[in-house]
Amino acid sequence: MSGGAAPGGRPPHSLAALVAERAREGPARIALVGPGREPLTYAGLAALVDRTLARLNELGIGPGDTLATVVPNGPEAAASFICLAAGATAAPLNPAYQAPEFEFYLSDLRAKALVIPRGLDSPARAVAARLGVGVLELSAGVGPAGSFDLEGVGMGRAARSGAAGPDDVALVLHTSGTTSRPKLVPLTQRNLLCSAGNIGRTLALTPEDRCLNVMPLFHIHGLAAAVLATLQAGASVVCTPGFLAPMFFDWLAEFQPTWYSAVPTMHQSVLARAKERGDAPPPCRLRFVRSSSAALPPQVMAALEAKLGAPVIEAYGMTEAAHQMASNPLPPGRRKPGSVGRPAGPEITVGGERGARLGAGQVGEILIRGPNVTGGYAHNPEANASAFSEGWFHTGDQGYFDADGYLFITGRIKELINRGGEKISPREVDETLMDHPAVAQALSFAIPDERLGEEIGAAVVLRPGGRATPAELREFAAGRLIHFKVPRRIVFLDELPKGPTGKPQRIGLAARLGITSVEEKTPAARAAYQAPATPTEKRLADIWASILRVPQVGRRDDFFWLGGDSILATQMMVHVREAWRADIPVSRLLEARTLESFAAAVDRGGGTGTPAGARSIEQLIAEIGTLSEAEVERQLREAEGKGGVTPLAEGSRE
Ligand code: AMP
Repeated sequence: MSGGAAPGGRPPHSLAALVAERAREGPARIALVGPGREPLTYAGLAALVDRTLARLNELGIGPGDTLATVVPNGPEAAASFICLAAGATAAPLNPAYQAPEFEFYLSDLRAKALVIPRGLDSPARAVAARLGVGVLELSAGVGPAGSFDLEGVGMGRAARSGAAGPDDVALVLHTSGTTSRPKLVPLTQRNLLCSAGNIGRTLALTPEDRCLNVMPLFHIHGLAAAVLATLQAGASVVCTPGFLAPMFFDWLAEFQPTWYSAVPTMHQSVLARAKERGDAPPPCRLRFVRSSSAALPPQVMAALEAKLGAPVIEAYGMTEAAHQMASNPLPPGRRKPGSVGRPAGPEITVGGERGARLGAGQVGEILIRGPNVTGGYAHNPEANASAFSEGWFHTGDQGYFDADGYLFITGRIKELINRGGEKISPREVDETLMDHPAVAQALSFAIPDERLGEEIGAAVVLRPGGRATPAELREFAAGRLIHFKVPRRIVFLDELPKGPTGKPQRIGLAARLGITSVEEKTPAARAAYQAPATPTEKRLADIWASILRVPQVGRRDDFFWLGGDSILATQMMVHVREAWRADIPVSRLLEARTLESFAAAVDRGGGTGTPAGARSIEQLIAEIGTLSEAEVERQLREAEGKGGVTPLAEGSRE
């Protein structure tokens, strides 16, 4: 760790103090980097924090007030998080949420205001207006990466002003729970900085380090590991628009990061992209690669180490712990593939029946305690009563320690679906499906998936006389839920399987129904299978099949319904560009989602009026890269959910 201690020897326990101290130690050191932007130094960041605190107070906002933020990934997302959390409580929300989701989150947060970039079109605006939540427009400055101003109507006088203290809540995030309502996790300044210190120590971060952040900054993984651990170390973080596989190696070459942290699905996409490129990765100075938030398959770990020439450190994180709980060590320490490593911050124990503590090799629930762990869910005494006992927090994960003190996760007690690191509360999906007039009962469940670890399926019992196809139910859910929560596979049953106590049995349902993958998915689309007809369709079908990992693609198959998402879409566009040298704007996939219509677009050279091959692959990738992750998500969601045409408006580019 860098010299994180204050003159008195105690590390700073508030964000404002931390930034001020780093600015004193190294005013000219770079804190934030944004593609195509002048970097922001620590002196610049400290000035931005001071300016924001003063501005918040002018607007009537201070410590204890919650600000919901809807800011696409990039330097402004990182800077606004740091500055707002320094003087109030930041509540970053996924910009791709649907209106009903914003309605829930904005109300549940009791937000004093919504902070949103000027000009960003989001359903959050209408929801805030309906709920009477004030809006603060964030205008990105022309200056260094992350600079911004806040404009809005004053909200009276703040109860407190100035910087928040160590025990003020700096960040609130929702976590998917066993109920349909996500639980609200408050994390104090102390919780966050303690976690950042733990991560920095594990990774031996120094001011020389540079993190490439590809994680969304509305999730604890990116906020704590990429942003806060970097600040603790006085190092720098490159704030990308989000994970875009086609850009990844260019970013490695351009920014020369010493590390990045991602979820396993992203690591798999890095490997796929490396394979597509064929050549050796560009010279880079990666010291290590970090993986967290979902289980990293040992094969992926080995392949990534071989490809990038750096050790891959798997860690175990959780929102309630302000992220890191355990981690494999850096060399010369031993990393054990398949293990999440040793305790790396909080104390960890494995609990058995009636409070017993289990020894090595015995499987039980993983319990944690320590200064990085939340003091309890907000406004939720029931959840707190079941989550905490004798000072230990129950993670809901099952596992064991081996004889060397390495932790292995073996399963889950909590009803949660972990889709490539995105957590889904199955009850929320059940209840959404049950809002459909034809549905009597619904039980969503995890389906094993090679790429994502788990996919989401749902068993549905229709009302007597009720009629609905899986496609209709998916479309219904897509209008109410963010895209990753929409079940990929829906099966109709006469009744839901029940356990001995008569309760529907969600855990293990896929196995009981004989569902081993989502491959038999989209039965409706399969029923209408039509073989690819033209040479372009045939070649494109092979590309889609390999990217989407499905055995067969028909003319009528829809890219998104076969499991396509923003990561896979960018991979596919690059393949198409390489195979046909056709100039296909990314927007074309959103308009032409079936194999047949997309092949026609390819045959027309993308229909842009530009001669095929006129633009380089770098330009195509740059086009994808200029869309913020939220914008890509929003457009994919619209295309996926509404089944309609969603042309990419020029004005929607960043
Ligand atoms: P979140 O609150 O979104 O960070 O999710 C926390 C949950 O992600 C944990 O309780 C685990 O179930 C899961 N998780 C995090 N890291 C890992 C890992 N390395 N391996 C397996 N599961 C993980």
